[in-house]
Amino acid sequence: MGRMILVSNRLPVTLRRGRDGAMDIVRSSGGLVAALGPIHEAGDGLWIGNVGDQLEPDVEKDLSRRRYVAVPVSNTETRGYYYGYSNSAVWPLFHYMPERAKFDRSQFETYRAVNQRFADQIVESYEPGDTIWVQDYQLMLVPRMVRERLPDARIGFFLHIPFPSSEMFRLLPERDEILRGLLGANVIGFHTYDYARHFISAVLRTLGIHMREGIAQLDGHRAEVGTFPIGIDTEAWRKLAVSRAAENSIRELRSYFGERRIILGVERLDYTKGIPLKLQAFRRLLTEHRELLGKVVLIQVVVPSREAIASYDEQRREIEQMVGQINGEFGKPGVVPIHYQHRSTPPAELAALYRIADVALVTPLRDGMNLVAKEYIACQVDGDGTLVLSEFAGAASELGEALRVNPWDVDGTAETIYRALEMDPMERRERTAGMFKRIRANDVHRWARLAIAAIERPAPAQFHAPEARDPDELAALIKPELEKAKRPAILLDYDGTIREFTEQPHEARPTESILRVLKMIERHEKAQLILVSGRDSHTLDDWFSGLAMTLIAEHGAWTRFSGESEWAMAGPVIDQEWKRTVLAMLNEYTRRTPGSSVEEKTTALVWHYRAADKDLGRWQARELTSQLEDYLANEPVEVIEGALNVEVRQQGINKATAYRTVEQALGPFDFHLAMGDDTTDEDLFSAIPDSGFSIHVGGGPSRAKESITSPSAARALLRALFNDRGPASD
Ligand code: UDP
Repeated sequence: MGRMILVSNRLPVTLRRGRDGAMDIVRSSGGLVAALGPIHEAGDGLWIGNVGDQLEPDVEKDLSRRRYVAVPVSNTETRGYYYGYSNSAVWPLFHYMPERAKFDRSQFETYRAVNQRFADQIVESYEPGDTIWVQDYQLMLVPRMVRERLPDARIGFFLHIPFPSSEMFRLLPERDEILRGLLGANVIGFHTYDYARHFISAVLRTLGIHMREGIAQLDGHRAEVGTFPIGIDTEAWRKLAVSRAAENSIRELRSYFGERRIILGVERLDYTKGIPLKLQAFRRLLTEHRELLGKVVLIQVVVPSREAIASYDEQRREIEQMVGQINGEFGKPGVVPIHYQHRSTPPAELAALYRIADVALVTPLRDGMNLVAKEYIACQVDGDGTLVLSEFAGAASELGEALRVNPWDVDGTAETIYRALEMDPMERRERTAGMFKRIRANDVHRWARLAIAAIERPAPAQFHAPEARDPDELAALIKPELEKAKRPAILLDYDGTIREFTEQPHEARPTESILRVLKMIERHEKAQLILVSGRDSHTLDDWFSGLAMTLIAEHGAWTRFSGESEWAMAGPVIDQEWKRTVLAMLNEYTRRTPGSSVEEKTTALVWHYRAADKDLGRWQARELTSQLEDYLANEPVEVIEGALNVEVRQQGINKATAYRTVEQALGPFDFHLAMGDDTTDEDLFSAIPDSGFSIHVGGGPSRAKESITSPSAARALLRALFNDRGPASD
């Protein structure tokens, strides 16, 4: 495995001049550093980013010792690239605030030039086998710039902010170039399914490229979309919340605020955070519930940010004016309703605030994810806090137990804050516990693992898509060989091959016409008919009781030879410990995907989404597959994404091994006809000799030699091969 090259606008360090005049390198804090820092430290890769202009040689040496590679960006360039295009065009537009967006061609040109410099540095540092992972909206052109020079590199991109609906996105003057830039990556990651959907639709509408199931085959490489909601370092926040520093801080806060209930707001100073509307809601709360005066306090922490941009400065003035007005209106000696601080807060102090706050108000107008919401939950070691969360934060799709608000609805928000304050302690505890479990399981380390696994996963081997043939034409090709054969083997998959799919798996009983076709083959004097199915043995027994063919159940785990009534197992059933957790994961996806269901077999578990919305189902199937692969990496099982299902089954059992078992018992065969529609049938296609006929049903890529359009065409082919008494109807 090669090295990981991380790329972000800023390196995770800041340079500070110490008292002795020398430059110190100080590690920055923040979500991205928490996410990627451990990966960088554990590996032997590089981190490419900017720390300002003109570095002293000593500093450069220090940086390279830590495997940091600095890309110089001048102050003028920072104005055009960072404060300009990134934060005055892309940032507001992607947060649905086009009226704040300033589109300026010359700023874009600076953005492009800086992106090119990053790309050049990546190319220079790259060694074959490395993985490149580019972060965020300041570097959207980089993937393509690198792709042009390194066509075979594995490149990932992750967007940490929302990707807006295509109607919003198309306002961007440079929309084509930005999308093409992103499509240079192999995996383009987003926080939520919605953002990914928006991206896919922007690609279709802007470039006319259809990303089927989130995948596009572009000239020379494959680009796919993925959702990876970022988490926090839950364990670290938990520890911090009970640290001595936090305990001290809590004591101080308690002695200052006494018994007052604490409502907390923590955000970077940014107009997307919705602070003025939140203050209005708080004001409304005090107006409606005057009895709360003196009993509650709002502690509003605002972290300085992007002060070089005028609109940020205006936002600050607006907030401070409102705080002044509300305190002026409702305050009296000893009672200050809002405690406002505009400064950066050390983590332990922040953890203390999270821990003692009765209610956290996280009400952004738009937010890619929002980590504050998750940090607040992580710090609820006493389980007694309530989270009020904007439905426009990415985190809302994961934190279902929070009290959701529409921040634009000031009255509604005020009522919800009241409800949060009044909430029964049991209910608080239950809601918090549910969310805590989730953010502990989906922490930032898991986020990075899943995203990296997706980037590093080799693209599936490129199957060709054989041209579909007419059944009669195909029969004419096969029949002479069949007639010559002394011992032909007819290997048929069932679902999707000779039987059409049904909404529910149990509804797919064989129809009269299927039974007729099978009986017809059985009557052939030499042919061995073998049904190679993924179904369990009970179902096959039940459905094919009147037939004498050989049956294979669960993709080869069980065999019932022709004429026998007992099933034989292919090998020992190995340790089944994995099943419990996998079942829980499949159940979770079933809850998330209306219409889907779980099937349990002896050696496998299957998640079916035939009856679900197909787009959502396919999407979830890919998510599920990647999670399962991540989780099951060391288990003796394999994960197979089927036509309309995801199957986890014991390793070493598949349709190829099933074929060999049958060949040993009933063979050797001198003619092979294998038909199937699904990924699992590909094993069978590769197991039969080259002289055999492998036929893929239903279109799409396959290693089969021939293709036919549908189960009904498959039945027509079989009828044409085995019934010489003229045409029969389906
Ligand atoms: N934070 C910080 N300094 C502070 C207060 C908060 O670095 O004084 C951190 C906070 O812990 C959180 C991050 O800033 O991890 C804010 O992330 P979020 O996703 O909520 O919003 P963003 O600022 O990225 O838009």
